[in-house]
Amino acid sequence: MSLGWKWFIEYQTPHSAHMHGIKRVIHSQKTKFQQIDIFDTDEYGRMLVLDGKVQSTVRDECIYHESLVHPVMLAHPAPRGVLIIGGGEGGTLREVLRHPSVARVVMVDIDAAVIESSRKYIPELSDGAFDDKRAEVVVADGRRFVERCGEKFDVVIMDVTDPLEGGPGALLYTKEFYEAARRVLREGGAIVTQATSTYYSTHCFATIARTVRGAFGMSGGYHAWVPAYDSMWGFVYGCPAKDPKTISPEVVDGELKRRGITGLRFYDGEVHRALFALPKEVLRSIGETDDVATDANPTFMPI
Ligand code: SAM
Repeated sequence: MSLGWKWFIEYQTPHSAHMHGIKRVIHSQKTKFQQIDIFDTDEYGRMLVLDGKVQSTVRDECIYHESLVHPVMLAHPAPRGVLIIGGGEGGTLREVLRHPSVARVVMVDIDAAVIESSRKYIPELSDGAFDDKRAEVVVADGRRFVERCGEKFDVVIMDVTDPLEGGPGALLYTKEFYEAARRVLREGGAIVTQATSTYYSTHCFATIARTVRGAFGMSGGYHAWVPAYDSMWGFVYGCPAKDPKTISPEVVDGELKRRGITGLRFYDGEVHRALFALPKEVLRSIGETDDVATDANPTFMPI
């Protein structure tokens, strides 16, 4: 181990961690909501870290953002209005705006400093999405925004920080929040949320799936390996109109072509099929979990 290196250590559990060699600290800022760090690394390029948790790296953010956005967007015949909660660095906004039917995207992030520092130090993540005339960026608490929102959307995408005890995102994974989110969805609409690690926080993932099912009458899950997270990363959706799991690889590729979506670095028909292949243990955990996350008893990641 080179003594010259600075190391950033991210814990997945109290007993398991991932060390990242830091070439240069680009930006560090403590805000009202969280600690923001932006590092240069040899392994992943520039990296955004919030409260000690890797959010995005230039090298592999496409895996997370393309997996979060496209399966549910393709399950909707022509999504026009999209609401993104969180997503401060702009990668989710970038992917949503690839869909030509999208006329309006509202992105609501609680921390203006994440948006500003990402635009300044990692502009390739948003790749001009913040300047798209279809995009409206709102700085607000996503929970309060949804509870007061009079507008309806076709798709709601939850790209918020993990449910950490004391973190700003925990009350965005509860029954009460999903019921409020259901009220801002048009007929045939869907929600998708990042749902933590299917390996290191399987129970948290399963509880989110159970809670979404309670609010939407159905839920499904999928996951992808994100190297910078050092884990299979889970996603949960509530998509009563059409279950994205039922879309064949051929239809995915055909629909991407029909919508003129090119330049993806990770997602296509075959990857779509692979995303939904959840292992037995995770399926059993989803099947066996009766726990529902509520405001009074939220679900939390182990660390
Ligand atoms: N990829 C990441 C992950 O898997 O954890 C998420 C990335 S994104 C940067 C997370 C964003 O959620 C941050 O910009 C943070 O400010 C935002 N956020 C956290 N709590 C929020 C809340 N209550 N309302 C709106 N945005 C919130």
